[in-house]
Amino acid sequence: RLYNEVIQLKGNIRVFCRCRPLNQAEIANGCASVADFDPSQENELQILSSDSSKKHFKFDHVFKPEDGQETVFAQTKPIVTSVLDGYNVCIFAYGQTGTGKTFTMEGTPDNRGVNYRTLEELFRCSESRSHLMKFELSVSMLEVYNEKIRDLLVDNSNQPPKKLEVKQSAEGTQEVPGLVEAQVYNTDGVWDLLKKGYCVRSVGSTAANEQSSRSHCLLRVTVKGENLINGQRTRSHLWLVDLAGSERVGKVEVEGERLKESQFINKSLSALGDVISALASKTSHIPYRNSKLTHMLQNSLGGDCKTLMFVQISPSSADQGETLCSLNFASRVR
Ligand code: ADP
Ligand code: MG
Repeated sequence: RLYNEVIQLKGNIRVFCRCRPLNQAEIANGCASVADFDPSQENELQILSSDSSKKHFKFDHVFKPEDGQETVFAQTKPIVTSVLDGYNVCIFAYGQTGTGKTFTMEGTPDNRGVNYRTLEELFRCSESRSHLMKFELSVSMLEVYNEKIRDLLVDNSNQPPKKLEVKQSAEGTQEVPGLVEAQVYNTDGVWDLLKKGYCVRSVGSTAANEQSSRSHCLLRVTVKGENLINGQRTRSHLWLVDLAGSERVGKVEVEGERLKESQFINKSLSALGDVISALASKTSHIPYRNSKLTHMLQNSLGGDCKTLMFVQISPSSADQGETLCSLNFASRVR
């Protein structure tokens, strides 16, 4: 609780930058790293330009290429666990395709990311508070592609997918009626569900990776808490969002389906940027309704909700233009 009060004082919006290592292909092609880190500064980085000038950026934390999943989670943990105190929380991974959004959120089976580590931590914390609070955790998984919502915990392979919409409830909150909410009791159960969801996600697209970079993938954890002393009940949401790739699509590729896709992506990513920067500047009108994504997340963005954005970047000289775009986007929301 104390830590959350500290967060409160510092504001509710955090931006972490994470730079992946140069990969084998980049090294083989002679790409140099344009990202420069000062070992004594944990929240700054510089991007070198071709004219040897430097652009300087400052965030709440900067993860260097050598920082592993554990280091990243250590900084993320206090924010995600605040969902147990009744706060709504949103975590986003933003950036160009190939910069590690999925690596940060989903991770790999032997190097798990924020999603799995979060659930593991929520089970651990709820266990340690079980003399005071009773918690019930459930998980939903969905995808937003071309402004359409698809439930990833429903196997749609034999029937046309059920259409999901954002609706306002009688209490005035934004809900997605019909979305599967699967109760989870332990980390094994979570892992099975996540695997199922990722599998459903890739079915129905000819090239799974292609499609996944063009849709937003959302994992929602619903926490129901009951205070065993005074009987008070809480319900809160934690959203873990792997966003569509932020790269601008080359002119030659832009036609037909691809044109529609990139317009939807641009629209929803800029709508998200507009909402977060409006919240950061404490403007009274927050434009939630401009995209499915922000509309669906309305109750978990703003107020006393906590928001964390990972801006993922590549260190490669070949990606310098996109890297600067992502860092500028992230500076705007901070
Ligand atoms: P995105 O989801 O943004 O398109 P991915 O998460 O698929 O990017 O990452 C692209 C590749 O780079 C993957 O093979 C991934 O394992 C690797 N990768 C990304 N970030 C890191 C990192 N911090 N350390 C090691 N490998 C990484
Ligand atoms: Mg990805």
